[in-house]
Amino acid sequence: TIDGLSVLQKGKSVKFTSLIEDTRMQIRLDKPMEAEGDVVTIKMNFSFIVPINGSDRMGHLTTKNGEIFSIAQWFPRMCVYDDVLGWNTLPYWGAGEFYCEFGDIDFSVTAPASHIVMGSGELLNPQEVFTAEQLSRWNAAKTSDEVVTVRSESEVNDPKSRPAKDKLTWKFRMKNTRDAAWGSSKSFVLDAVRINLPSGKKSLAVAVHPVESNGKDGYGRAAEYIKGSVEHYSEKWFEYPYPMAVNVASNVGGMEYPGIVFCGWKAKGADAWGVIDHEFGHTWFPMIVGSNERKFGWMDEGFNTFINGLSSAAFNNGEYKPERQDMHQIGKYLQNPEVEHIMLTPDAMRERNIGVNLYSKPGWGLDILRNEVLGADRFDYAFKKYIEQWAYKHPTPQDFFRSMENGAGEDLSWFWRGWFMDNWKMDQAINSVTEVKGSNAEAGYNIVVANLEQMPMPIILGITTKSGKKEIVKVPVDVWMRNKVWTVHYPTTEEVVSVVIDPNHVLPDINDTNNTWNK
Ligand SMILES: [Zn+2]
Repeated sequence: TIDGLSVLQKGKSVKFTSLIEDTRMQIRLDKPMEAEGDVVTIKMNFSFIVPINGSDRMGHLTTKNGEIFSIAQWFPRMCVYDDVLGWNTLPYWGAGEFYCEFGDIDFSVTAPASHIVMGSGELLNPQEVFTAEQLSRWNAAKTSDEVVTVRSESEVNDPKSRPAKDKLTWKFRMKNTRDAAWGSSKSFVLDAVRINLPSGKKSLAVAVHPVESNGKDGYGRAAEYIKGSVEHYSEKWFEYPYPMAVNVASNVGGMEYPGIVFCGWKAKGADAWGVIDHEFGHTWFPMIVGSNERKFGWMDEGFNTFINGLSSAAFNNGEYKPERQDMHQIGKYLQNPEVEHIMLTPDAMRERNIGVNLYSKPGWGLDILRNEVLGADRFDYAFKKYIEQWAYKHPTPQDFFRSMENGAGEDLSWFWRGWFMDNWKMDQAINSVTEVKGSNAEAGYNIVVANLEQMPMPIILGITTKSGKKEIVKVPVDVWMRNKVWTVHYPTTEEVVSVVIDPNHVLPDINDTNNTWNK
């Protein structure tokens, strides 16, 4: 409920009317604001009962040593006013997440003194909320690359592990952020470790979880995972901007907020790494690059899925390296007309397709661009520039497309159109392979490749000659500009015994029965 609404302009109460419609409130000022820097202050009281299961974005969980509260979407927010749509007034529907403006958030949480509270940003008063022993461990963690246990499993039920008070107020400050969230429980084990950032700045990885989740096969390694993940992304793309990176083990399966994430308390091993890495990956999309999740869920989930692949391959010498995927199988799956396309508003697509259209397909798309079209060097440069140029701003899909083309120095409109705006299929086929004898022409083979569907892609040929020599020949996508058939000349004096289109299954060719020619 909301009450006590007031509006101040130049420090004085002003006349206004307001209405609430759905999840939105409109405030109509009696006199419009002045251009160029007029400030209006809106005040209100608000309260709500925390749901047990808040759409998998907040909630509370019963553990044997107490309730874990994971609290988010807990205060009213201004709609974003951008230079594309003006006010972005879509109500909260669920599948499409959020679109938030940046600002500084100071907040404090008053909880029973038995609780430990962790939130977005910097904990401003550790000396008031920890015991002396915990404070010294907390400070030790800030200079340690080994995980420091600030409150151990055996201390959770020890009253001496909390200050002897009735209530305590935890104060947090988060700057230039699109949101703030927090978690609270008396059941928390607390681990912390320093995060080293490329500029020399430091952050602090903090893991809070119940004893049930504390094994080394679970969140007993959470602080190590946070450190690995945040250091990787900071080095590779853009420096982590917040003083802390907190993981809360929760009944929320996996949900991201700036500086704090909620991850399902039962996750083990690769799943525990995977969910922590994914939720912290969201720091870059959409927390830093503030895209509109309401309309374009793929601009955070898809980009995040892509960077998660590189992060998982890098962590701890490949401990959780993902398996390579067969893009031919994926191409076959995507040709189902019920799969829609990536650009569709999340709340308008079939719920079962959200996983593919918002996460996997844009992720695979960036993999294809990086590995098969541009190469890692050009792709990474362009993607990094996109993040830098759109940090703390609100890019549209077209801003992303343009930014990538500018950074890579390549026209990629064919790819955006076929892969993002449509669900075009790809099917390349070998029409013929003919030997060319030397005299007027260069000796070798003419390999005629047909593009049978709408999606253009580079041609990748695996060629084997009689001596057993294998070679990969790549032909850029441009050959399809005005052709449905293209002849690839392969110069050789040896006999060719087989030609295979895309032998490593890296492109989404839906039909590989026409991909192979054998002598
Ligand atoms: Zn996500």
